[in-house]
Amino acid sequence: MIRLTKDFEAPRGLPRKTASLCPQCQKVIPATLLEKDGKVIMEKTCREHGAVWDVISTDVPLYLRMEQYARDGVGYENPKFPTFKGCPDTCGMCTHHLSHTALALVDLTNRCNLRCPVCFANANDAGYVYEPDKDTIRFMLQTLREQKPVKTVAVQFSGGEPTLSPHFLDACSMAHELGFNQVQVATNGIRLANEPGFAQACREHFLNTVYLQFDGLDDDMYRKVRGVPLAKLKQRAIENCRNTHRPKAEIKAGKTDKPLSVVLVPTIVGGFNEHQIMPIVNYALDNLDVIRAVNFQPVALTARIPDKDRFQMRFTQSDLVRVLCTEGPFEKTDFFPIPSVASMSELVSIIKGKEKMTLTTHPGCGCATFAFVDANKKVIPLPRFMDVDGFFKNIGKLVEDYRDARFGRVRLALAGNKLIHEVSKYFDFSKAPEGIDEKNVIKIIAGIFTEGNKESLAKFTWKTILIGNMHFQDSYNYDIQRLMRCDIHYAAPDGRVIPFCAYNSGPTYRTEVEKKFSVPIDEWKKSKGEKMKLKTIETMGVNGEVVVDQETYVAQAMKNQPGFSTKK
Ligand code: SF4
Ligand code: SF4
Repeated sequence: MIRLTKDFEAPRGLPRKTASLCPQCQKVIPATLLEKDGKVIMEKTCREHGAVWDVISTDVPLYLRMEQYARDGVGYENPKFPTFKGCPDTCGMCTHHLSHTALALVDLTNRCNLRCPVCFANANDAGYVYEPDKDTIRFMLQTLREQKPVKTVAVQFSGGEPTLSPHFLDACSMAHELGFNQVQVATNGIRLANEPGFAQACREHFLNTVYLQFDGLDDDMYRKVRGVPLAKLKQRAIENCRNTHRPKAEIKAGKTDKPLSVVLVPTIVGGFNEHQIMPIVNYALDNLDVIRAVNFQPVALTARIPDKDRFQMRFTQSDLVRVLCTEGPFEKTDFFPIPSVASMSELVSIIKGKEKMTLTTHPGCGCATFAFVDANKKVIPLPRFMDVDGFFKNIGKLVEDYRDARFGRVRLALAGNKLIHEVSKYFDFSKAPEGIDEKNVIKIIAGIFTEGNKESLAKFTWKTILIGNMHFQDSYNYDIQRLMRCDIHYAAPDGRVIPFCAYNSGPTYRTEVEKKFSVPIDEWKKSKGEKMKLKTIETMGVNGEVVVDQETYVAQAMKNQPGFSTKK
């Protein structure tokens, strides 16, 4: 019997209760989400450290609309921990986790060639080097592929700066060999920009996608956030990705040549770089041949900071939607939360007779829109010419009707076929970009249902861009209901698989895992000799030359830095 999603078990609407953390002692405490002054607020009180509140959304109707799409997943058949002792104390996974892994992160090193303030992982500050060897990387990847009922299909190598690991390229090939169909890297782009042939080497080792840390288009921004000007370097990294080709063997096997895809990953801090949001989107639109998405990350406030600064820096997904709507060509109704597409995957699961990866994150975690771009670079979001709601509802009905497969897959196929051929009901092609007509929409949708793989999705992303966000949690806005539904998971060398926000926020697992599997810096240096120093940008230089000395670099990077996290 195929295990599909189920009704959302958590309460919806406002006010509602949840559990969160005390930002001071990190203990789990009760919290309430409520409406106040047109905003969604989280209020909580720690017996020891008093009351604290934070803004969850600045748009109540948008928040409530997103909730309507919530679904719960089925979690794991083979969790590492067979008992549940409370969230987030049994992450690894435990029996209570509700989403399987949609994207796995594997940290390859905590070394970095930048030294951004308050980074998650930095060997220079940690005093140890966490750098799994090849066997350990293979073990982590295998663990992810052995998950049931859904094997992980997408992996992202991260760090530190993962390209500094001596095993980075081998890790990409290994992931491909083990059957991951999306192999990604989260990078600052320095090696891609500076090292001739490195981007093509990545492609030859089956890397598909570069998640490029991209704070904006001007150097002032980079000087403030990263300590050095990096704008040109980012553009050179993108250019080098654009000039890559698919491995020859794959082209010979009939696959179309495609460069490395780039996803821009800007961290947005309130009152700091909001003004860069639309320039970043426009930059992506100008480079659609290589950039396929922008994934904004509203800042996670990981350090103790004064309330005044925190409220100014707090930037929510509703703020992002507001900026995209007021400064860009979008409307609020263009945005859908991540779990809105769950019914599509479920239908594919039923058709295939096998559970497929299904996105069931909490709607508070992220939302996105899918836009078509015509020849004149006019942006036409999909919901402008498609009744997305109606279409998803009909798919959901089909899933309900056939979920126990009592009616047989043949009748389901017929029903699916009927739906596909009624597709024009959901589209107004007079408003669609030129070239998008009934015939090719049917082809795309049929491709998704029948192939159920990334090739058909790749066709759907033709001349399109995905603009979305993922709002990682911090101790101020931590919501256990979100955590239990997280589908972005870290693999650890001991076989644990840990939700992203438990790994990096609150009573973090990162420190525990890294300490357990690392060596002190001095010992590491000794074992590697002179060849592999802990480099920072001043030894590499953004153009391969020395730009600033170590002291100036660190002073610049730390100057005026509030305690925000700079995730890639
Ligand atoms: S977050 Fe998930 S894995 Fe961690 S304790 Fe809670 S339910 Fe279990
Ligand atoms: S990483 Fe954090 S924000 Fe993203 S899905 Fe998981 S819990 Fe939600």
